[in-house]
Amino acid sequence: MSEIRHNWTKEEILAIYHKPFMDLMYEAATVHRKHHDPNVVQVSTLLSIKTGGCPEDCGYCPQAARYHTDIEGNDLMSVTQVKAQALRAKAAGSSRVCMGAAWRNVKDGPEFDQVLEMVRTINKLDMEVCCTLGMLTENQALRLAEAGLYAYNHNLDTSEEYYKEVISTRGFEDRLKTIENVRKTNVTVCSGGIIGMGESVEDRAGMLVALARLNPQPESVPINALVAVEGTPLEDQKPVAIWEMIRMVATTRIVMPETQVRLSAGRTEMSREGQAMCFFAGANSIFAGDKLLTTPNPDVNEDMKMFETLGLQPQKPFIKLMQPQTVEAEDSQFQPLGEKPKWSRPGHSIERNVKASIKGK
Ligand code: SF4
Repeated sequence: MSEIRHNWTKEEILAIYHKPFMDLMYEAATVHRKHHDPNVVQVSTLLSIKTGGCPEDCGYCPQAARYHTDIEGNDLMSVTQVKAQALRAKAAGSSRVCMGAAWRNVKDGPEFDQVLEMVRTINKLDMEVCCTLGMLTENQALRLAEAGLYAYNHNLDTSEEYYKEVISTRGFEDRLKTIENVRKTNVTVCSGGIIGMGESVEDRAGMLVALARLNPQPESVPINALVAVEGTPLEDQKPVAIWEMIRMVATTRIVMPETQVRLSAGRTEMSREGQAMCFFAGANSIFAGDKLLTTPNPDVNEDMKMFETLGLQPQKPFIKLMQPQTVEAEDSQFQPLGEKPKWSRPGHSIERNVKASIKGK
């Protein structure tokens, strides 16, 4: 029932998604128990190390410079600041720190060197380190791996078809290319998407097809529910019904049995009972901390109370894979190549993105 398959079709995935609810839950929970300890949930802390001012036009994102949102932008944080935050996260039960920078792509230079130093520093705290920095080349992925990076996040966001309705400044193919570059190293892949952006259920299935066809499948798949932020093109989207979220989690679990399925943005809108159903359906990772980059997230204490109520344990770091060795900057084998890859700019027009940009001026 739950061997790893890379040949899922959209029709098969839709058939799972639309199963009678009780059958879906039973199947997802059965797959989950076969591959994971159902009482263990991995806890990650997301840290926005560089906020706002991004040149991209992702329709859901308040960090895009072109939209008029009231987020506070920040330059790249210092290594000392990041270390202090990582220590706080560790004390609060997180096993992983995920650092996000609002960049189109990684550029070799002092800022990337600073991020590499952050990776070294957090890995030495015996925590799993993840980065989400935009598109990156193979050499940049190798440099991150050498610094001790455990995971790289690069979401597909949605199906290839619907992607064109959300983002015009970079292509779906580039996303796959970045994931391919990460796969050339020992760094694990974290890639998922967002539901509630106006996509159809077919698009949700299409995204799962694209993720499940990756070989190996991503080690983590975050499932986000859109947080509609005022000023973004998707500001008027209605919140996703909890049942849709649970169905999406359960389907992801069945299609990618070994993956850690992460409840990500949108958790503040979910009741504890709703989250418990998601855990039962196979979610086994959450983001902790009061903010997810720029959008709200439940309080850490609230999460710990929920864990207690449900008898859940936070996962220890490096259970799935050994801790990477950190190579110091002076011993590095990989030098910056100063590459200027031509990441695509499809540049088609998305009416609601254009409208939101104009409103922002
Ligand atoms: S999602 Fe990332 S790439 Fe897109 S606008 Fe936001 S920060 Fe930029």
